[in-house]
Amino acid sequence: MLIKTRKDETKTHDSMIEMKSLNDSLEGDIRDFLINEAELHTYDDLTKVNPVTPSTVLKCLQARYSAKVFYTHAGCTLVALNPFQPIPHLYSLDVMREYHTAPQPQEFKPHIFIVAEEAYRNVQGQVEPMNQSLVVSGESGAGKTWTSRCLMKYYATVAASSQKCQDTVEKIERRVLDSNPVMEAFGNACTLRNSNSSRFGKYIQLQLNGSQLLVGASVQTYLLEKTRVAFQAPTERNFHIFYQMMKGATEKQRLEWMLPSEQDFAWLPHAEKTLEGLLQLGNVYFSPASEEAQPCDLDGHSKAADLLQVPLDELQSCLTVRTLLAGKQSVLKPCSQSECGVRRDCLAKVIYAQLFDWLVTFINNSMCADSSMWCNFIGLLDVYGFECFLLNNLEQLCINYANEKLQQHFVAHYLKAQQEEYVTEGLQWSFIRYQDNQGCLDLIEGSPSSIFSLLNEECRLNRASDAKQFRVRLQKELSDNASISWDKLSKEPHFTVAHYAGNVSYQVEGMMEKNKDPVPPEIISVLQKSQDSLLHSLFADGDRESEGSRGHSKVVTVVSKFKNSLESLMKILHSTTPHYTRCIKPNPDCRPLTFKKEEVIAQLEACGIVETINISAAGFPIRIPYGSFLQRYGLIANTRLTARMNRANTHVSLTGPEMSDQAVLGSAVEDVLNLVLKRRAPNSTLSPD
Ligand code: ATP
Ligand code: MG
Repeated sequence: MLIKTRKDETKTHDSMIEMKSLNDSLEGDIRDFLINEAELHTYDDLTKVNPVTPSTVLKCLQARYSAKVFYTHAGCTLVALNPFQPIPHLYSLDVMREYHTAPQPQEFKPHIFIVAEEAYRNVQGQVEPMNQSLVVSGESGAGKTWTSRCLMKYYATVAASSQKCQDTVEKIERRVLDSNPVMEAFGNACTLRNSNSSRFGKYIQLQLNGSQLLVGASVQTYLLEKTRVAFQAPTERNFHIFYQMMKGATEKQRLEWMLPSEQDFAWLPHAEKTLEGLLQLGNVYFSPASEEAQPCDLDGHSKAADLLQVPLDELQSCLTVRTLLAGKQSVLKPCSQSECGVRRDCLAKVIYAQLFDWLVTFINNSMCADSSMWCNFIGLLDVYGFECFLLNNLEQLCINYANEKLQQHFVAHYLKAQQEEYVTEGLQWSFIRYQDNQGCLDLIEGSPSSIFSLLNEECRLNRASDAKQFRVRLQKELSDNASISWDKLSKEPHFTVAHYAGNVSYQVEGMMEKNKDPVPPEIISVLQKSQDSLLHSLFADGDRESEGSRGHSKVVTVVSKFKNSLESLMKILHSTTPHYTRCIKPNPDCRPLTFKKEEVIAQLEACGIVETINISAAGFPIRIPYGSFLQRYGLIANTRLTARMNRANTHVSLTGPEMSDQAVLGSAVEDVLNLVLKRRAPNSTLSPD
C-alpha cells in the first residue's frame, strides 16, 4: 500500500479529465497556449504544459532549444536535446558539486545530474538499499554515449573517496573513465548518422561500497557489429582503431606492421595489431581459375601470414579449400572465388570479435572490485538506437528488437504498472491509452512461431538457404500477427515489421547465413597455430562454435545468443529502480543548434512521450509506503497515533517496513495528513494533540 501526495495540488483527477476533453478541441487550446509563447522556454517540466499534445510539447521543446536549454523533465523521464556543440560550463565540476550538495536537486534546472543524483541517493534507499539503472535511449546520434560519459564523470567525482584511501580509489575512477576511449576506439565508427557511432551495446555497473564510494566497475557488451571490419556501406568507415593506428604509428611501427604510409587499404575507406594483420587480409584477393580460386596476389597473403604469424601455406589453404566429411573419409573441395572472399572476411571478423571480447575481459579484470568490497551498483545502459536504413538485415533486426525490449520495459514499469496500481488502490482514474508492443515482440521472439524461431529452424536444418522459400514460410506461419506485412510490389524477398518506432523492411537474402555465422573449422585450426601469443590465446581452447561443415557440431545462432544476453539484461533491469533519459536528435545532419520539427516530432512519437507526460501529469509523483511515511512524519501526530495503536491493540513497530496492520497504518497516515492540512488552513485552530 502506498500513500500518494500530489506535487501540483491544483491538478485534480477532474481537471485531468477536463484536460483530455480539451485535447479534442486542439486548435483553440494551442492558440491559447501560444499566447504565452514568450514564456514557453520556462516550462521545466512538460507535465505543466496544458494541453499536452504532440504540438504543444514540440513547441515547448523548440522554445527551450532556442533559449539554449537542453534538458526538460517529462514526468518520470528526462528529455535531453542534443546541442551538437560543446556548451561551456554545463558539465563542469562546480555544476556537479552544486547538484550533489543541494538538499533538493529537483528544484534546480533540469539536468542529467538530477537523474544522476536521484539514483545516487536512492541507492541507499529510505527503507532498504536498492540498485539503480539509468537507461539512456534515443536514435543514432541523439547523444546516448555522450550522456553515459557525463554520468560516469559525475559518479567518478561525487563518489570519489575520502583522502584516506585516495590513491586506490583515484586509480579506480581513472580506470573507469579511461576504459571509455579504449572501448570506443574498438567499438565505434563513423557512420552516415553519427561520426562516433557505437557499434555495440554496453551496460556498465558502477560498484559502490557501504559508504557509497565508487570502488570498481564491470562492463557487459552486446552484439558488436563485426561485419564492419570487412564491409562498410558507402561513405561509412571502419572502426576508429584502424585509423588511429595509421595516424599514430611511428616510423618503426610502420615498418614492423607493414603499413606503408601511402598504401590504400581496401578495408580502410576514407583514410586521410594483430590488427595490422587484419588490414593486410583486406588486400588479399583471389583470381577465378578454371575450377578453383587461387590467390592472385601472393604479396598480400604473405604479409597477412607474417603478421598473424601463421604458416603461409596453411593460411592459403584454409581460405581456398574446404574439408568435407564423407563417411569416415575427408574430402577436399576447392572453393569458388566468392567463397574464398567469404572465408577471408570470416577470418578477419572472427579475429576482431575475439579480440574485442578479450579487451572487455581485460578491462573488467582491471576495474572490477572483489564482491566483498561493494554492496550496490548503479547501472548505465547505452545501447544502439533504433535503426532503419534503405537496406536492413539481421543486424538491424537485432538492434530494433533490443529497442523493443527496452520500450516494453519502460511501458511495463511505468505506463502499465502505474495505471494498474491506481485501479488496485481504488482511485478514480480514466485509463490513458499507450502503445503496447507485446504483439511486435511476439512476432520477433515468441513461441511456438516467430521470426527468430523460424530462422533458427532453417539453420538447424542446415540446408542451402533459399530466401524466397523462407519468405513464403514467414508469410504462411506469421501472417496472423498484425505487426508483419509484405509489400506485394517488391521483387526482393523481404518482410516489414511495424515497430513501436516505425515500420522497417528487412531483406531476407543473407539473413539465414548471418544467423548461422559460420566459422570454417579450418580457419580456427590455422589460428590455433599462430606464433603470436595473443592471437594463439584467443583461439587456444577452441571453444568457439565452429561451422557445422562436419555436420554435427551444435550451432548456437546469433539470434539465440542475442536473445539470451538481452534476457539476462532485462532480469538485471527488473531488479533495479530504473531512471529513463530520452535523448533527442534535433536534426539529421548533426548541425549545431538546429531544430527540425519533423525530426523531433517523429522521435517524440516513437517513444510515446505524450502518453508518458499525460500519465505523469495525472498521476501521483510522490509515493511513499505507509511505514516510511509514519517513520518520517509520525511525530506530528505522535499522541494521537499512540492512542490509536493502543486502541487497535496492534503491536506495530514504526522502525521497519514490516507493518502488521495496513488498515490501522492507513488511518494513522490519514491522521497525520489531516493535522498537516489543518495547520496549513488559514484561521484554523490547532488541536492540543
Ligand atoms: P549512436 O547510437 O550512433 O552510438 P549516440 O546516441 O550514442 O549515437 P553520441 O555519440 O552520444 O550519440 O552523440 C553524437 C554526437 O553529438 C557527439 O559526438 C557529440 O558531438 C554530440 N553531443 C551529444 N550530446 C551532446 C551534449 N550534451 N553536448 C554537446 N554535444 C553533444
Ligand atoms: Mg553511442
